[in-house]
Amino acid sequence: MPLLVMKFGGTSVANLERIENAALKVQREVERGYDVIVIVSAMSGKTNELVGWVEGTSKLYDAREYDAVVASGENVTAGLMALRLQEMGVPARSWQGWQVPINTTAAHSAARFVSIPRDNIDAKFKEGFKVAVVAGFQGVSPEGRITTLGRGGSDTTAVAFAAAFGAERCDIYTDVDGVYTTDPRVSDKARKLNKIAFEEMLELASLGAKVLQTRSVELAMRYKVRLRVLSSFEETDENSGTLVCDEEEIMESKVVSGVAFSREEAKITLFTIEDRPGVAQAIFGPLADAGVNVDMIVQNISEKDYDDSHPGAVTDMTFSCPINQVERAKKAMEDARNAGLIKYDELIIDTDVAKVSVVGIGMRSHAGVAATMFKALANEGVNIKVISTSEIKISVLIDRKYMELAVQALHDAFGLDKA
Ligand code: ADP
Ligand code: ASP
Ligand code: MG
Repeated sequence: MPLLVMKFGGTSVANLERIENAALKVQREVERGYDVIVIVSAMSGKTNELVGWVEGTSKLYDAREYDAVVASGENVTAGLMALRLQEMGVPARSWQGWQVPINTTAAHSAARFVSIPRDNIDAKFKEGFKVAVVAGFQGVSPEGRITTLGRGGSDTTAVAFAAAFGAERCDIYTDVDGVYTTDPRVSDKARKLNKIAFEEMLELASLGAKVLQTRSVELAMRYKVRLRVLSSFEETDENSGTLVCDEEEIMESKVVSGVAFSREEAKITLFTIEDRPGVAQAIFGPLADAGVNVDMIVQNISEKDYDDSHPGAVTDMTFSCPINQVERAKKAMEDARNAGLIKYDELIIDTDVAKVSVVGIGMRSHAGVAATMFKALANEGVNIKVISTSEIKISVLIDRKYMELAVQALHDAFGLDKA
């Protein structure tokens, strides 16, 4: 029997009516002859509420109990979806992570899949069940404790099931009708893409486009899962939405395919550090040990570089990290200074920054993308604080108040509103 994976995000299962709407989409695929694995998120807002309850109870919470609480939102929607399908006459059974079992690592709140044995669900399909409704975002650790996969993790559950069960396709139903050139909530000129290459989607997701969790794209790319994003609120057919696929399937692509942004950035500068071998290691080693995800890094040119008479020259180091890791980063630097590992005169934190990035596989073969980007930002009077590039993306850190303006300007500059 051909099999489909259908994932419904938080807004798509936000109340009983929407669960019914989603169930109708599942029923239609069953009528077309598919066995279906449905992955559900918690009702929208539920996971935030659960996280708030944990933080309100314990500041330095036990990560195992965080996962036990936060995973529960998906249990409710999985049961409700199975019940709704049964009411429609579709034989369905719900599955929590431990029942499958979805085996993960023990890295609580950031667990990774280890294995998803098919036996239990396959046995139910053989019994005549047509739908397995699986709670997204969760798994079980080697110690038998509940784990979660990180925010937005139900997308990754969906792709992992599609890979494990050899699904014909993995359909991600959400509150937009596909992947756009930028977040349609920020630019009304954003245009829906019919196809996007895995690599581009991977960059867009990791640079802030939360329409798919980064890990889900990584898994889809590795296991060659046909991944599609489409609307749960509109009539859809096999041509709807956006297909995330191999580069070769895209006949013609633009130099830049999309603009992504992230508001949750911070910039930290260490003034007057020593300019000697080993300094970068002495700074970024302790940051890594403290679990700080450093993103962009700039080291200033030092006096020594243009004048050899400065043997004891100094320089400055700037890096960016997620805003909620600033306190941890500051403490790691202060501890390193107190331990005599590094010297600096001042540590300056800027939490009013955002990262804006342009992404496109066409950049590999086109020069001048950076120049176009910088010109568009300059025309709007947007000052660039930090720049970083890779083969298919350019990112800049700017004042957060200019973020929307910068996104619009770049969208226009690369002609993304035009097909
Ligand atoms: P779900 O709850 O279904 O998982 P999410 O809120 O996680 O949905 O992701 C969908 C949202 O992603 C959209 O509502 C949209 O605002 C946002 N988004 C950001 N960038 C993009 C993009 N390039 N294309 C489409 N949606 C995007
Ligand atoms: N409910 C979880 C979250 O809000 C997982 C998901 O929706 O993908 O992060
Ligand atoms: Mg999501």
